[in-house]
Amino acid sequence: LIQLAAPLGFLGVVYREIKQAVTDMQAMFALLDQVPEVADRGDALPLAVSGGAVRFEGVGFHYAPERPILTDISFEIPAGTRTAIVGASGAGKSTLTRLLFRFYDVTAGRILIDGQDIRGVTQDSLRAAIGVVPQDTVLFNDTIAYNIAYGRPGSSRDDVEQAARLAALHDFVMALPQGYDTVVGERGLKLSGGEKQRVAIARTLLKAPPLLILDEATSALDTRTEQGIQGALAQVARNRTTLVIAHRLSTVVDADSILVLDQGRIAERGTHTDLLAAGGLYAAMWQRQHTDTPDGEDGSQHSLVA
Ligand code: ADP
Ligand code: MG
Repeated sequence: LIQLAAPLGFLGVVYREIKQAVTDMQAMFALLDQVPEVADRGDALPLAVSGGAVRFEGVGFHYAPERPILTDISFEIPAGTRTAIVGASGAGKSTLTRLLFRFYDVTAGRILIDGQDIRGVTQDSLRAAIGVVPQDTVLFNDTIAYNIAYGRPGSSRDDVEQAARLAALHDFVMALPQGYDTVVGERGLKLSGGEKQRVAIARTLLKAPPLLILDEATSALDTRTEQGIQGALAQVARNRTTLVIAHRLSTVVDADSILVLDQGRIAERGTHTDLLAAGGLYAAMWQRQHTDTPDGEDGSQHSLVA
């Protein structure tokens, strides 16, 4: 052991460097690229998107067989409409969105997009059709322009600026001495959570996918940032089939449909009005939110405990 320790000491330095690179990559790969578990079938065809309707049919999922995470999940998101998922931490919300992106394959049932089982289509075509705005966006150690253009490689600077304007990011960028050439990320300018999310929104606007997965930030943002983000999210979700993990009241109140996830099952579903009238889990969540967080300066009144 002692003999081994000395020659391997230099690895500490190398390891830290590699680890940083791996962290950057992993975070991107996590949602934007393929994982080894999922492979294209030999006869896989490109996904043909007509309107972008999503259908979960009796979907079940576990990471490990002894612990089911999702059970008998069935719902439909008609093309161009917005469905919000709410539920306690650990209920399975993020897992459900990972399945739609086919980060993992379902262990029961099936997921269809415009009638096509997503296991039968190429991963490239599936992922080209879905935009993801994650809760915590990871940026490349590169310029803001590069980070936005990543949504559609080859985009012109005009396209990038246009997307940034719609994402309410342009004024912030123009106020930086180096503007769009400012290097961001771990080794550059650190952006706030709200700014990073706006980069992700701009990126997604450039990609212009028919389907969209949004994971709203849980943390309370200040009211102005919150309003900016809401407007940007509304832009990106317009006319797109959207599945959103919702933490904000405005999102759930306006959703075409809300799914209440409880321990991996859909406990309730309906519109905000339906669910309030039903007087169940959702109504209790709503009630708690109103009593726990009276109006404050920090925008926390917008945050649904979910
Ligand atoms: P939510 O987004 O509603 O908070 P998640 O979908 O993240 O819930 O997690 C649901 C359950 O699955 C949790 O118990 C979580 O610990 C577990 N889980 C999430 N990701 C993994 C993973 N990669 N491997 C094993 N268990 C996981
Ligand atoms: Mg989650």
